[in-house]
Amino acid sequence: VAKNQGGNRYACYRPTDSQSALQAFQIEKALRQALDQNELQLFLQSQCDQHGVLAGAEALVRWQHPEQGLISPALFIPVAERSDLIIALDNWVLARAGELLANWRSRGLNYTLSVNISPRHVRHASFVEDVKAVLARYQFAPAALVLEVTEGILVDDLQASIDKMLQLTALGISFAIDDFGTGYSSLSYIRNLPVQELKIDQSFIKGIPDQANDIAMVETIIAVARQLNLRVVAEGVETAAQALFCQQQGLWSQGYHIDKPLPVSKWQARWLDRVTATDS
Ligand code: C2E
Ligand code: MG
Ligand code: MG
Ligand code: MG
Repeated sequence: VAKNQGGNRYACYRPTDSQSALQAFQIEKALRQALDQNELQLFLQSQCDQHGVLAGAEALVRWQHPEQGLISPALFIPVAERSDLIIALDNWVLARAGELLANWRSRGLNYTLSVNISPRHVRHASFVEDVKAVLARYQFAPAALVLEVTEGILVDDLQASIDKMLQLTALGISFAIDDFGTGYSSLSYIRNLPVQELKIDQSFIKGIPDQANDIAMVETIIAVARQLNLRVVAEGVETAAQALFCQQQGLWSQGYHIDKPLPVSKWQARWLDRVTATDS
């Protein structure tokens, strides 16, 4: 149905619109088919370490719709999260990520790959087994996989989430808190979570280096992270000044200043094949 209506139906969707329940249902139905028909596509966005050297990438999903073109995850992830469809979607991304990590490992490359996991998936009974199954199937180095979760996992049954995270960190897999600073605004919860990385939300990076408030926020987050021995990644690094700030503060950075998200093949051609070629 949604397909026949054409136009910008999907682009108009807002999760908060009260009349949009039917639309969300239609998107959900189309997305279910998209998963089956291989219309999802994996993009990678580079992450550089504190020396400005490539350290890894984040996997970001896109929907290559036959009529609508490339659809942003900001539009369809919230719909997928209304049902267990998000579990299938996350697992599709996890499998692609496992496959990539195994390939990199066979080429002697030990970059990290970060995968976004919905809070709903963390709460789902299959979460730990889903991740273990991908690890068993693709045999990549567990230390290379970073699972990004948001403060949404704190909402209910926190202890159950922590227990699951501990089962996976025991295998060597890492966790990152994504969009850090935008959620529950209490720094203290972080010490109770088995995470190895904080990703500072791009809204704080925007004001660097001009806004004193943003600098204060970022420096506070860095101080806490240091105390807890966590890696810090700055998201939304768009300018040379922001990149310099990150390097001076010892942060990893990710953002348009380094590169935009690219389809896997383009990303590999730009970031890996070049490196491999000059190394040999
Ligand atoms: P996120 O995980 O916080 O991803 C960062 C978002 O910031 C990405 O948007 C990325 O394209 C964008 N970005 C990167 N660099 C810059 C920059 O320099 N400036 C600005 N303004 N933006 C930048 P994207 O790809 O549209 O993803 C949006 C969100 O959708 C993600 O936020 C994540 O929460 C969710 N998402 C994406 N892929 C997946 C997935 O495979 N599974 C799940 N569960 N969620 C996903
Ligand atoms: Mg993320
Ligand atoms: Mg983020
Ligand atoms: Mg986000």
